[in-house]
Amino acid sequence: MSSEQIISGKIILGPEPEVIEGYICLRDGVIIDIGEENTSSENIISPCLVNAHTHIGDSVLKDPILGKIVGNRVERDLDSLVKPPDGLKHRILQATPQSRLIELMKRTISDMLGTGTSAFADFREGGVPGTLALKNALEGKNIIGRILGRISRTEGNYVEYEAERLLKESDGLGISGALDMDKNVLETLRQVAAAYKKPFFIHAGEKNRTDIDSALSLDPHVLVHMTHAESHDLKQVADEQKSVVICPRSNFITGVGMSPVKNMLDLGITVAVGTDNVMLNSPNMFAEMEALVKIFGIEDRQVFMMCTLNGASILNANEIGYIAKGLSPKIMVLNGSSDNLTGITDPIRGIVRRARPDDILTVIN
Ligand SMILES: [Zn+2]
Repeated sequence: MSSEQIISGKIILGPEPEVIEGYICLRDGVIIDIGEENTSSENIISPCLVNAHTHIGDSVLKDPILGKIVGNRVERDLDSLVKPPDGLKHRILQATPQSRLIELMKRTISDMLGTGTSAFADFREGGVPGTLALKNALEGKNIIGRILGRISRTEGNYVEYEAERLLKESDGLGISGALDMDKNVLETLRQVAAAYKKPFFIHAGEKNRTDIDSALSLDPHVLVHMTHAESHDLKQVADEQKSVVICPRSNFITGVGMSPVKNMLDLGITVAVGTDNVMLNSPNMFAEMEALVKIFGIEDRQVFMMCTLNGASILNANEIGYIAKGLSPKIMVLNGSSDNLTGITDPIRGIVRRARPDDILTVIN
């Protein structure tokens, strides 16, 4: 039996979002009609958000000490926290039973769903078992989770064997960095991903630009961070039509700087946004939007697109990301008359600058 649902309010419509007042009619999750009409509803109807870079295995460690305390400052030390194989997170992941890891990842997925995120792309450590653990955590959850796996051993013939096993289970590869592994190993991984027609994501240029050339030489689909990319790097990224995921709040807490977002956008690069390690940030995309507007000075509609449509494009999840007839996007309905949002004049500006997860009334689809 098919089911129909009609929702009305101020609708953020289309890939280049504009706001109309009216209604949306969904049948079995697919938008079959959109119409303009006056409505007394103060609700705001928006596509859900897309978190284009996470490490939700980090749910086992949410409040680490970030470095050495010197006076009233903390000297941040990114490598000691996250660098494989011996960074704190990897030691804790090793020591955490699989059942506990899965349970905590489920909690983070629920948190994402509750904060308006409908899709995410995760760098999953731990080889095939790590990927299977996230698959397990995703079971029964109404969210699109792209798993970008990582091999657990890098010696000899085992690389190709494990990469093949991994790519049978995962949606692609998520590599920690081009200088973290032997070049031959990385090239083998890239070849196996190509043979399986699955995407190759890699961290690059997070702390400095030393790994950017090596990362680009692997011809990745998506570069994560590029905080220290220079204009010529970005020109190459644009020319080769690669995408970038930036992680503003992660870069702040690790103290690595601010990514050149305006330059990326000016060059026409598809830029999406991720909350990065759960160890460093809650997976709250509203907080990323606020940072992009207020700290980076990015235009409101551009920020909204980066956190919806662009993320969906990078995840190859083209059925979501914006509201249009014939699509089946996940939709969040926000309370435009909440104490926080009442009085806003433009729902897009209102959402990116000040909306919070507690303004969400419901998520549909
Ligand atoms: Zn990352």
